[in-house]
Amino acid sequence: MNSTKKGLAMGIVICSNCGSSIDALPTQKVTTYYSYCNHPDCQKKKRQNR
Ligand SMILES: [Zn+2]
Repeated sequence: MNSTKKGLAMGIVICSNCGSSIDALPTQKVTTYYSYCNHPDCQKKKRQNR
């Protein structure tokens, strides 16, 4: 795994349906969050999961 700039890590939000990155946020360590993007298919999946 690549280490980015020292002292700076990014948490990344990935769509768990299509795998595209939705958002990135500064965090204490590199973390991956899973969510759903705004794509109609992914929103449909999101509704099915509830
Ligand atoms: Zn998606």
